Amino acid sequence: MATEVMIKPDGVQRGLVAPILERFLSKGYTLRGLKFLNVSKEHAERHYADLSSKPFFGGLIEYITSGPVVAIALEGKCVVEQARKIIGATNPLAADPGSIRGQFCIDIGRNIIHGSDTVENAQKELALWFPEGLVDNTPVLYSQIYE
Ligand code: UDP
Ligand code: MG
Repeated sequence: MATEVMIKPDGVQRGLVAPILERFLSKGYTLRGLKFLNVSKEHAERHYADLSSKPFFGGLIEYITSGPVVAIALEGKCVVEQARKIIGATNPLAADPGSIRGQFCIDIGRNIIHGSDTVENAQKELALWFPEGLVDNTPVLYSQIYE
């Protein structure tokens, strides 16, 4: 199972790429894709298509296209659900303080990171961000991570 995570422009600008990646990789999840890129308006709108009727949609697209982002593909047991837990609630003020959003940010419109919310959406988002496919990466220490 795989999921798509994106470090948003504020997470990049604030120097949080390494601590964010560390949370997922030290947990034991496998890196299957990693890219640093500027996102077009069209790409951002496709990524957030489900939210197009929301009042914050315009601001959200401006935010996501305001600077480069880091797109990440992660694989492992229950990774979609677990990555969401590690990321924390959408509103950082409601997020568990041990989560990424709970630790590093304050405002909902500057919440530094995205993670796919369902297995179905993860598949769509991985196809959008990594159309070339994921990188083969079999964990050498598989038996040290999974029983
Ligand atoms: N967002 C916002 N205002 C809101 C709700 C959401 O600016 O009232 C932004 C926020 O950056 C959030 C993104 O829109 O991360 C996508 O919203 P969603 O409900 O999918 O939250 P997420 O899945 O990121 O937790
Ligand atoms: Mg979402």
